[in-house]
Amino acid sequence: MVNDDLPQIDDAAIEQSLVANRTVDAVRVREILSRARELKGLPAQDACALTQLSDPELLAELFAAARFIKETIYGRRLVLFAPLYVSNLCANDCLYCAFRARNTSLKRRALSQGEIAAEVKMLVEQGHKRLLLVAGESYPREGFSYVLKAIETIYATRSGAGEIRRVNVNVAPLTVDEFAELKNSGIGTYQLFQETYHKATYSHVHVLGKKRDYDWRISAMDRAMQAGIDDVGIGVLFGLYNWRYELLALMQHISHLEARFGVGPHTISVPRLEPALGADLAEQPPQPVSDIDFRKLVAILRLSVPYTGIIMSTRENANIRRETFALGVSQISAGSRTNPGGYANDHDNPADESQFSLGDHRSLDEVVRDVATLGYIPSFCTGCYRLGRTGQDFMDLAKPGDIKMHCDPNGLSTFQEYLDDYASEETRQVGLKLITDVLTNMDPKSKAVSEKLLTRVRAGERDVFV
Ligand code: SAM
Ligand code: SF4
Repeated sequence: MVNDDLPQIDDAAIEQSLVANRTVDAVRVREILSRARELKGLPAQDACALTQLSDPELLAELFAAARFIKETIYGRRLVLFAPLYVSNLCANDCLYCAFRARNTSLKRRALSQGEIAAEVKMLVEQGHKRLLLVAGESYPREGFSYVLKAIETIYATRSGAGEIRRVNVNVAPLTVDEFAELKNSGIGTYQLFQETYHKATYSHVHVLGKKRDYDWRISAMDRAMQAGIDDVGIGVLFGLYNWRYELLALMQHISHLEARFGVGPHTISVPRLEPALGADLAEQPPQPVSDIDFRKLVAILRLSVPYTGIIMSTRENANIRRETFALGVSQISAGSRTNPGGYANDHDNPADESQFSLGDHRSLDEVVRDVATLGYIPSFCTGCYRLGRTGQDFMDLAKPGDIKMHCDPNGLSTFQEYLDDYASEETRQVGLKLITDVLTNMDPKSKAVSEKLLTRVRAGERDVFV
């Protein structure tokens, strides 16, 4: 990996590591797990060794270590968000995606600013505070400024006392100047997945348009950071190539960003290929990742980069999502639609406009209730971003495990807001009990901070955080 230049994936090092770590003994595994519990991350060799685990006892120890790290750093909160698909126009042809240019069975649609506002209103009325704006790689006539206008619309839309407080963005790679405009529009995280770090596979599945350019895509985070966006989210589309290779390549990408900019990604996403209309490759993933390997990969990521958020979307079903909460996931989407206009015009079969099919169809209220029943704090917090605690500042707090002093109290106060303003009666009862239980088991300092915030929210104040 060249650190002062664009990211380069060192294939030879990955192959060597995969061969050298084909077998791994229990003594080494336990030595790695005990080092991981020091919260300093793991070198690629160790992560690679863990990918080979199959012994149930050792796997259970891996999962326990992941849970320990997650709870030590982030506490018990799980941040909730919803994707907002503004357009499915696309000039690329990614063989796995329903939005691909040559998919003639897809109904194409770019939302007007009024339609975007209608979507946002629906999401605000469900209780959402964070959105992820998503679009295909082709914009209506006004070009990239369409995205900037959409962000403006989202922040300007209110319903009752509610509003969206953080907009993250997942759109095609931009130039440094465009990234600077995106930053000025007040986004939280810029998110982009490399899909696969394996060049031959990348060329094979990206057959048309600008996305064919592997280097333009892998260097996007460098340009974003050069433009001053210090929260970036990376990811792999699992199922395209060998997941062990992808994991090690992802770690090289992270090392590159850390070496060049002093800070790694804010989040990692782990989408697995889901069936998509008009995209045969998605029906039959070339290298599918089994459920057990998927859990393993989430846990290994938690150990390897303990301070980086892990995002789990509604591509996965409710059971897998539940299992991965304990393994290190810190953010989840809920009540999602992947068709533009899907929130305001909810109908039963949006498949002809959607990007892929979902594994979890539950409403936000149902997901919140489930999360709370499992003992996690459903959090709508946007405090870090609002206080400018991003990039290096966030990492400085996250690395020694201090962030949970903020996350748990802010999680509780925003959860109380949700319970007061949006929850069903059933969810409210489960939620109030959770808040009491969490407070009972909290350290005295966090408890005092939380109680102060909760008192303010219960008295009607909104948007309070530390
Ligand atoms: N068009 C932009 C791009 O490709 O980067 C941004 C938005 S794209 C709609 C968001 C992500 O959806 C892609 O990066 C890809 O990883 C994911 N995706 C596409 N098809 C998928 C499928 N069939 N199953 C799961 N995820 C998929
Ligand atoms: Fe277009 Fe993105 Fe889908 Fe590729 S993944 S076809 S770029 S929307």
